[in-house]
Amino acid sequence: MAHFTDDELLAYADERLPSDSCAVIEQSLRLNSSLGERLATLLLQRDQGNFSVGELWRQHRLSCPPRAVWAAYVDSRLGDGLSKYLQFHLEIIGCRVCLANLEDLKRRDPLTEAERRTRKIFQSSAGNLSQLDGNN
Ligand SMILES: [Zn+2]
Repeated sequence: MAHFTDDELLAYADERLPSDSCAVIEQSLRLNSSLGERLATLLLQRDQGNFSVGELWRQHRLSCPPRAVWAAYVDSRLGDGLSKYLQFHLEIIGCRVCLANLEDLKRRDPLTEAERRTRKIFQSSAGNLSQLDGNN
């Protein structure tokens, strides 16, 4: 498993990395949920001035988590602590900005869309093939 420094992960989140390095981290994030959680924590800490998640929770800070954190949330890449914090932000604080962000992230799922298209094509050609078999 590749090891990334905090700076590399933050650079990835900020889209400051060249696309090949970006792809390596992207893949690692998909394979390794703890890496996603680490990145989310880093982003939160940076945005909130190095408060721990526990402190954020206690102080009920209203600042919005960055979009990359919501993306990790949508992909279920976050642990309980962060997920609860995000749910709190949505459900108790009722932040409309983040809710809109979250809905937007849920809507756009290019992989699923591509998979659906591929399956559709495959199913229709499989259907044609079985019709041909029946005719023989
Ligand atoms: Zn918010």
